[in-house]
Parts: sequence; C-alpha cells; structure tokens
Amino acid sequence: MTEPDVALTDYALAIECALFAYLVRRREHALFFGSAAVASLAGGTVHGFFLDAHTLGNAILWRITLIAIGVTAASAWAIGATVLFPAPTARRISIAAASALAAYCVVTVFITQDFRAAVVFYLPAVVFLLVALSVAYARARQRAILVAVAGLGLMFVAAAVQQARIALHPRYFNHNALYHLIQAVALCSSFLACGGSMLTRREFLEAGTAIALAPYGCGERSAPGVVVNDIHSQLNATRVYRVVQPASADAVVQLVRSARQEGRPLSIAGGRHAMGGQQFGSDTTLVDMASMRRVLGLDAARGLIDVEAGIEWPELMRHLVDAQQGAARAWGIRQKQTGADRLSIGGALAANAHGRGLKFKPFIGDVESFVLVDADGIPRTCSREENAELFRLAIGGYGLFGVITSVRLRLAPRVKVQRQVQILEIEDLMPAFEQRIAAGFTYGDFQYHTDPDSPDFLRKGVFSCYRPVSPSTPIREGQKELSADDWNELIYLAHADRTRAFQAYSRYYLSTSGQVYWSDTHQLGPYLDDYHRALDRRLGASEPATELITEIYAPRDALARFLTDVREQFRAQRTALIYGTIRLIERDDESFLAWAKQPYACVIFNLHVVHSPAGLERAAAEFRQLIDAGIRYGGSYYLTYHRFATRQQVEACYPQFPEFLRAKRRYDPQERFQSDWYRHYKQMFGDLL
Ligand SMILES: Cc1cc2nc3c(=O)[nH]c(=O)nc-3n(C[C@H](O)[C@H](O)[C@H](O)COP(=O)(O)OP(=O)(O)OC[C@H]3O[C@@H](n4cnc5c(N)ncnc54)[C@H](O)[C@@H]3O)c2cc1C
Repeated sequence: MTEPDVALTDYALAIECALFAYLVRRREHALFFGSAAVASLAGGTVHGFFLDAHTLGNAILWRITLIAIGVTAASAWAIGATVLFPAPTARRISIAAASALAAYCVVTVFITQDFRAAVVFYLPAVVFLLVALSVAYARARQRAILVAVAGLGLMFVAAAVQQARIALHPRYFNHNALYHLIQAVALCSSFLACGGSMLTRREFLEAGTAIALAPYGCGERSAPGVVVNDIHSQLNATRVYRVVQPASADAVVQLVRSARQEGRPLSIAGGRHAMGGQQFGSDTTLVDMASMRRVLGLDAARGLIDVEAGIEWPELMRHLVDAQQGAARAWGIRQKQTGADRLSIGGALAANAHGRGLKFKPFIGDVESFVLVDADGIPRTCSREENAELFRLAIGGYGLFGVITSVRLRLAPRVKVQRQVQILEIEDLMPAFEQRIAAGFTYGDFQYHTDPDSPDFLRKGVFSCYRPVSPSTPIREGQKELSADDWNELIYLAHADRTRAFQAYSRYYLSTSGQVYWSDTHQLGPYLDDYHRALDRRLGASEPATELITEIYAPRDALARFLTDVREQFRAQRTALIYGTIRLIERDDESFLAWAKQPYACVIFNLHVVHSPAGLERAAAEFRQLIDAGIRYGGSYYLTYHRFATRQQVEACYPQFPEFLRAKRRYDPQERFQSDWYRHYKQMFGDLL
C-alpha cells in the first residue's frame, strides 16, 4: 500500500458516509453522504494502490473520485435550497445544480483531472449550504442547526489544513490523513445535527424535515411517537408521529409542502376539545395551532376582526376590550361555545360550533371569510363569493380540507345585558323561550335537573336569559360569580348527590338574577382542565372516568316528548347524567355538513363514562339510544363529540355524508389531511367512495 494512512482514513470516511447515507431517507441527504462515501472509497484506493497517474486504475478511479465530489456539491446546493426557499424555488435551484454537474462531469472526464477543478466546483456549494444554514439558525435559533453550521465550518478548517500541508506525522499521518480525520468529525456533526444520533431512518427523516422547516418558524416540535389526547373525555389517546407548531401562515405552507414530499398525512389541532378523534390521526404529523394566536386587524367601521386560527376565545375577547377602550361604540364576539373557554377559533369553525344565542345560526353565520392552506400547500381565501364550495365544506368540515390559518369574524355590538332567572317545568320551556325572544332577549339556556330519583328529573330546570339594557346601566362591583372552587364543588355534587347539585345551582343562579354583564364576556365560564382526576380521588373511584358529551337536536314541538323517552331510558338504565342544558339554534342553510337542519331545540347530555371496556360499551349503547330517540322525533345529533353512531344513524341524520367524503377526496386526492375520525367514516362508507 503506497499511502496507508491516507488510504485507511479515506476508507474509514467511506464507511462512515455510507452508514449515514443508509440512515437518511431524504433523497438529497442520501446523495450528499452517498457520493461522499464513493469519493472516499475511490480516492482511498488511488492513494493506497494506484498513485501512479499512468495506470488505468488511477485514470478510472480518480475520475470517479472527482465526479463523486461533484455529486456531493450538487446535493449540497439542493439541501441548502430546501432549507432556504419554498419548494418551487428549491426545485429550480436543484435543477440548475444538476445541469452544472453534467457540465462538470464532461470537463472532468475529458479535459482535466486537476483536483483544483473539483475545488472550484465544490467550494461555492459548501459556502451556499453554510449561508443557508446560518440564515436558518438566525431565524429559528435551533441548536441542531448551529451544530450543522459548525460541522460545515469544520470542513473549511479541514481544507485549510490540507492546503497548508499540516500533518500529525510526516510519514504515518500526513496532511491528507489529518484532512480526512477532521472531515469525519465535520460530517458526523452535520449528521448529528439532523438528528442522526437517533440512528433510525425514520427519526433521521424527521430531523431532516426539522431543518427544512426551521426557517419557517416550525421550531416547536416533539420527539417522534407522541401520545396526545383530548382535554375533556380523554378517550382519544392517539400516537401521532410528531407534533409541530407552525408560527405563521408561511410556516403552514411549508409544512404542507414538506408533508407532501415526505408522504405523511397531517392532522390539525386547536384547543383539543373535540371528542371524536377529529384533531388527531395515528401516525400523522399533528399540526398544533397553538402558536398562531395573533390578532391581525380590527375593522371597527364594519365590525370585522381578522385573527390567526389558533387564537382562543379569552385572548380574542381581551384584545377586543383593550383595543376599544374609550370607544363610543364597541364590538364584541357574537357567540362562543359554553362550558369551556380555551377553544380555538379554527376549532369553532371546523366544528361549526354554537353558543347560547336565542336566534343565532351556528358559527358559520359569524364567519365572513377565512384563509385555508389546501392539500397542495396553496393558501386560499374562502368566502361566500370566493372558493364558495370550500367555504361550505371547511366550516363544519373537521380539518379535512386544509389548515385554516386565519379567520375574518363578524362581530356584534358590545352591549350590556341583564340576566333573568326562573325555575321552569319542561312543558313551559318552549313558550317561555318564545316569550323571551319576543321581549328582545338575545341569549339564554335551560339547565335541567339530573337526578333520576327525583320527580323533577329532566323536567325542572334553571331558565336563564339575557336582555340588552341601556349602556348607562351600571355593572356593579363585586357581583356574584362562580369561583373555581364553587365550580369544583358543583361538579362533585353532580356526581355524588344530584338533587343537592341542582339545589345549589338553582340557588346560586336565582341569586344572580338581575345582574348585568357584557354581551361577550358573560359567555365565559369556569372550566378546569383534567378536573376529573381530582374528582376520581375524592369519589374513591376504582377506575378512571371522565365525562363525555352528546348533543341531540329535537324539533322544538317534539322536545317534551323526546325528553319523556329519555327520562324512561335513563331511569331504566341508571344512566350517570352529570349535567345538561337545552338551547336553541336557527337553521344553517350554508354549511355542507349542516347539523342545524331546522330551528331545533338542542339538548346537551354530559354523561359519566368509566374508562373500562364495559364502561365504554355502555356509553356507546347509551349514546346510540339517545341518537335513536332524536331520530324518532325527526331530530339529529352533533358529530363533534364521539363516533359511536351506527351507519344507519349517520345516514338518517347526515344523508350527505358520503358526498362529503367524496368532496374531501376531490379536494385532497392524496388524503394529506387525515384524522382517526376521518378514517372511521371512510371505512364506514367505503363501499360508496
Ligand atoms: C366542555 C366542552 C364544552 C363544549 N361546548 C360546546 C358548545 O357549547 N357548543 C359547541 O358547538 N361545541 C361545544 N364543544 C365542542 C367544541 O366546540 C368543539 O370540539 C371545537 O371544535 C373545539 O375547538 P378546539 O379548538 O378545541 O378544536 P380541536 O378539538 O383541537 O379540533 C376540533 C376540530 O377542528 C379542527 N381544527 C382545529 N383548528 C383548525 C385549523 N386551524 N384548521 C383546520 N382545522 C382545524 C381539527 O382538525 C378538528 O377536526 C364543547 C366541547 C367541550 C369539551
């Protein structure tokens, strides 16, 4: 062997690079390390066995070495371009680099085999990659990117050492061997920076995507294989591949495009309160919208506000109050869900939610437009005029048509409202609602009695309505309100002694009759995430449990008859009904998957569900019976809370469901956006798709 130190270090470098090439899956990364491996193998063989330039072996192997270095340079261009630019620009740069490589190969094979030609070709590529990663680091401040930058810097040090002919030993470890040693460290740190320490192809791929996404602000990420769950029922534990938190609309665009390249579906989560698995998909990349919560603009003349879709109600309301301090005429939100506050606007839109308005349509009525990043990564403004079909599909479309990055909401004048409370019998409820509406009340609901052993079960309730009053009406200091402790005590009683719970609740509510509130903030209420854990302890439960909600829609004139059926069913089965409300909804004649098919009475049931196979089976049966009872009277149910409905029930309530799934496939043929909820229905209606 002519130069054993150089040949052996080259071979070691070849083995290292081949291993890295095997571990990565992104084409340009594999090419980068793979070509470096070939260059080292061929170069090492030249140094070891074919140093004589006149031999055929030298002629062939040296050309292979130079060409392989050229391939490494071209892939460095491709990697740098992916890091720095959106996909179309990156593609153009990669094509240009490939063309330059072809020219370089011709020069190398036929014109000159001087190593300086390789240096001229290779150097700009490495400088470009260094600049790209430095910019990426400046934007994302991720340590992994800094390590990659350091690795590339080290390659320049290696080159300088070689050019200056610095050696550890003139004979046994010369400047070329030292060059290889430093390069080995540099390449290793580049690999580790991409997550190579995890040493699986999959995980490396994930890290590769991390670097690609970092410049777009997708900094917050999780380790691969994360279990996520919904907040309220905690019955949707799902192992997603990873969680990413884009920080801007551009980041979402990049994310969708990267997901396309990677071939992995995306699921989308806001506040994680849906309970049918709509926000999670097994093995998907979960797009967590929590970092997109800015207010983008308020049009005070028209009562419109633009917000990023991850913003939650309390922040949005706080912004409106702060931004309109001292304004003669202020705006507020029209409606939000009741029972929990930390729900995102994107989630409200995707579920087409509703609040306790007496004459309101579901949320679609409050949406002027939104921006949705579709399956091709293209941001589309959707409104009643522009992309109107997508507007109808995505509202109430549970995240299956793309990521909603921002929403333009219609606001309502922010006025003072006065609460009026009375205890009513169910037979009197509908006439009472009508009277209140006629008298100008705008919000209201009926919280019913939940103790099956009481004659008042599902019959008597607390009827609270809100009427606009003059702006000069004072909101008194120190008005009564439910504290977190009061709420905890009520929820405990609702489990342990339902009659006492109803008494405590009605006493409290009656004592607040006449209090004045703002029309927006009165819709907020206490809710403690994960409250059931402490409750289980207090109740001495042997198995964990939570509440699971269902919402059944009954034609208003059939409400009392529907509840008579439910009363019998619940008493016979000793159903653990914890709390429930009755509200009104106006017909939704816009959204594709409209649940408010007519002006319904909405009956909400919050059932206690034990997390055991028997507990879940029982819940499924009880929820199906409730849906059947609704259907019997010409009603329907809400898709958001679970996916227990049978195919017949889905068909009865949502005959347009197969068409909805077909529309999803039309807009998203690759099924870029998926969830376990979607997969469930896709399977259910597989024969029709
Ligand atoms: C205690 C409680 C009370 C509730 N009260 C009511 C109520 O009064 N009225 C009512 O109508 N509903 C109510 N809900 C249901 C609630 O409105 C929905 O579950 C809503 O979707 C939750 O919003 P989220 O931000 O938690 O969304 P998530 O649960 O995170 O997601 C819900 C759906 O929205 C999609 N999504 C979220 N963000 C985006 C986005 N940016 N782009 C595209 N898709 C997105 C998800 O993919 C998923 O399909 C209640 C739920 C609970 C647990």
